[in-house]
Parts: sequence; structure tokens; C-alpha cells
Amino acid sequence: MTAGPVRKVLIVGGGIGGLCLASALRDRGLEVDLVELQREWTVYGVGIIQQCNVIRAMADLGLMDRYLGAGFPFEGVGMYAADGRPLARIPGQRLAGPQYPANLGISRLALHTVLSAAALEKGTAVRLGTTVERLDQGDASGTSGGVDVTFSDGTTGRYDLVVGADGLYSKVRGLLFPEAPTPRFTGQAVWRHNFPRPAEIDHLATFAGPDGYAGLCPLSHDLMYLFLTSEEPGNPRMPADQLHTLMRDRLKPFGGLVGALRERITDPAQVVYKPMEVLMMPAPWYRGRVVLLGDAVHATTPHLGQGAGMAIEDAVVLAELLPQDAAIGDLLDRYMERRFERCRFIVDSSILAGEWEMARRQDVDRVGLVKTMLEVTARPV
Ligand SMILES: Cc1cc2nc3c(=O)[nH]c(=O)nc-3n(C[C@H](O)[C@H](O)[C@H](O)COP(=O)(O)OP(=O)(O)OC[C@H]3O[C@@H](n4cnc5c(N)ncnc54)[C@H](O)[C@@H]3O)c2cc1C
Repeated sequence: MTAGPVRKVLIVGGGIGGLCLASALRDRGLEVDLVELQREWTVYGVGIIQQCNVIRAMADLGLMDRYLGAGFPFEGVGMYAADGRPLARIPGQRLAGPQYPANLGISRLALHTVLSAAALEKGTAVRLGTTVERLDQGDASGTSGGVDVTFSDGTTGRYDLVVGADGLYSKVRGLLFPEAPTPRFTGQAVWRHNFPRPAEIDHLATFAGPDGYAGLCPLSHDLMYLFLTSEEPGNPRMPADQLHTLMRDRLKPFGGLVGALRERITDPAQVVYKPMEVLMMPAPWYRGRVVLLGDAVHATTPHLGQGAGMAIEDAVVLAELLPQDAAIGDLLDRYMERRFERCRFIVDSSILAGEWEMARRQDVDRVGLVKTMLEVTARPV
């Protein structure tokens, strides 16, 4: 195999993982092109929880200051009964150093704004409304020295490496591994709605209902979001004009603050509904000089709040490895060694948490599962 540094990279997909990787590779002086399928480059609403390991990863990526300013830093996680009684408190870990918070709640739009601005300012060449049509790399052993790419607008380019960061329904995954598994519906869905933030929601608060979990996560000084998991057998199509009544129905078992918020869900357009789909690609996640990251290879449920975290960590590891002077296959093997088991643990544990909910299990240690996840993700990437 030919050794040689990676100088010119194409990233397919300008979501959370692709944008973090673009910034990090530009910081290291690599040439980066990024194509994003959407013409209007935006993200659907509501928020995202970024836990201790993600705060540390953002520090590694050099994005911390603008990132913290765009969200709501918080320390611990509170676990409550459906009526609001406190059950347990899990303290935060300041993994990025004592000067930084343990966790951050941030709106998806604010996160996208921070990441896209950083990638563009650092010199990523972004093309919107564009994807890849063909990837040619000879015998795919990585020895041909490059990937010839044909784009959907008819242009072509040659790259040392192509990164598929194009999410759950990744086109790059399909081009690379036509035999790859496809996303699987787990049986549950998540409902979300933004609200003004009351002072008491200065931490992530989760509420155990009989059929699923609700939670409140601060996103900014003024904003928080409410999420709810529910079992939805058969993955029914939810009528868009009924989302408010359907979400309210599913929140009936909750009292306290969540119960009071339920009555304020009156506009179906403010409800974001998403069936949960998972995917865990077997190793390797690369073929020759094309590699995958994020949801394209390890899409998880939101139960442990780590999906984006794993995509961001993938970017941290790839950015550390790619400038190294070694054969491309060796670099990508090291990527697999550092990422595969950690991501598999998150996907498996998140699926397990959902299965416990669907089986209405009372005999399980949910707090223990969260603590184990925090221990595992606190380890260096
Ligand atoms: C309901 C829900 C709640 C979640 N909550 C959390 C949370 O609290 N914390 C957390 O860490 N994670 C959470 N996640 C997971 C998180 O959103 C994902 O894991 C994360 O966005 C994955 O990043 P990614 O870069 O791999 O993919 P994405 O962020 O999905 O980005 C993929 C990008 O590729 C683009 N694209 C798609 N196809 C193509 C193509 N053919 N060509 C070019 N571009 C293409 C897309 O438009 C998109 O911009 C949640 C997920 C869901 C569904």
C-alpha cells in the first residue's frame, strides 16, 4: 500500500459530523471541499443535549467559545417521577477542564449556525444543492492514490480521501457498501416542543412515565425544550395537523411542570415528531480511500443523548489521524480501533433503554445505565 499524506478531502454532508470535521481539517491545513444536498442549508427545529464528552470534543476542535455562547451550559441531570417527585441526581463531569461546564443544551439551529460559520470562515469550499453520483477508486484497495468523484451537477474532482458524513440514509454508504444494513425502526418515536424556560429548568430534567420518558432541557436563557418518547407500533404516519393533540394525549400520565406544559401544546406546527431509527454498520467503515462517519454508520436513539456526540468524536479522531504520514489503510484501521466499540456500546445501550420502556420494565437500573454510559464516554476517544 502506498504511504502518503492526505492533503485534499471531500466531505459529503454538511451536518454535525461533516462540519466539525471540515473545521478541524482546515485547522490542520488540509484542503477541504464539502457538498451538501440541501439547497437551503438549515436544520429542523428544537434542541440537542451535548454531554461532557462532547464539551471536551468541542474544546479539542477549537470551537468552544462560540459554541458555549450559543447554548445554555448546565451541570447535572435530575431524574424525576412522572408527577415531578425527585428520584436521583447525576452530577456532571467537567471533562474539558474546570473552566468549562459539564454539559450544554443548544438549539439545533444555533449549533448549525456555529458549525457552518466556523467551517466557512476557516476556508472550507462549500457547495449546496449538490451530492456525489460516482466514486471511482480503481480496485478500492486504496493503492490508486485518489478517488475520482463525479458530482450531481456534472462536475468532477479528484481527492486523496472522501468522507461520507451524509447521515442516516447515506448515499455514500450505498455507493460503497451496496450490501450494508438499512435503518431499522425501533418501535418508538420522540415528540418535541419548545417552551420559554422557567428558572427551575437550569439542568436536564427527565421524568419517568409509565410508557416512556419525558424531559426538559434548557437551550438558552429564555428557551427550553420538552421531549417525550412513546411506543408507536407499526410506525404510523402521524397527520401533521393533529400533532398537538397526539402529543398531549401521550403526555397524560405526567403531572407537575410537564403536566402544566401539556396544556400549552396547541399548535401542531410547533410539534416535531420523529420515529426512532437505528443502524450499526459492521466494521470496517471504509473501503479504499472512502470512509464514513456519524449516523451513516452508527445511528442511535435519543435515550442516552449521544448520537451527535459520537459523530463529533468521529470527527475529532479522523482529524487527528488524517494528517499523519502513514498508509491510508493504516490510518483508517486506527480510526476503526478507536471508534467501533465505543459507538456500538452507545447504539446497543440506547436500544436497550428503549426496549425497557416498551416492555414497561420496573426491575431495571436506568440510573445505572446512564452512569455506565457516562463512565465509558469519559474515557479518552
Ligand atoms: C429525535 C432525535 C433527537 C436527538 N437528540 C440528540 C441529543 O440530544 N444529543 C445528541 O448528541 N444527539 C441527538 N440526536 C442524534 C443526532 O441528531 C445525530 O446523531 C447527528 O445529527 C448525526 O450527525 P451526522 O453529521 O452524522 O448526520 P446529520 O447531522 O444528519 O447530517 C447529515 C447531513 O448530510 C446531508 N445529506 C444527506 N444526504 C446527502 C447526500 N446524498 N449528499 C450530500 N449531503 C447529504 C444532510 O442534509 C445533512 O445536512 C438526536 C436524533 C434524533 C432523531
